[in-house]
Amino acid sequence: MPHFNYILEKNLKKRKLMKKKECEKCKNNFRMLFRVQYTPEKKWVFICNDCVIEVRRDNEDYRYGGTWKG
Ligand SMILES: [Zn+2]
Repeated sequence: MPHFNYILEKNLKKRKLMKKKECEKCKNNFRMLFRVQYTPEKKWVFICNDCVIEVRRDNEDYRYGGTWKG
């Protein structure tokens, strides 16, 4: 079934095209990052879920500003 194969191929390409962004903190690439502030400089940065958990702990400067999806 050529049509079925075509759809499979299309989905595969789509998955490869998914964008990734680098986490400011651990420098790994992720498909989903969180826009946060966590320093007294109030600079907006994109960091991954693990880093959010780490930086928000007892942090008065922590502020959440949205989610980025690739
Ligand atoms: Zn990270």
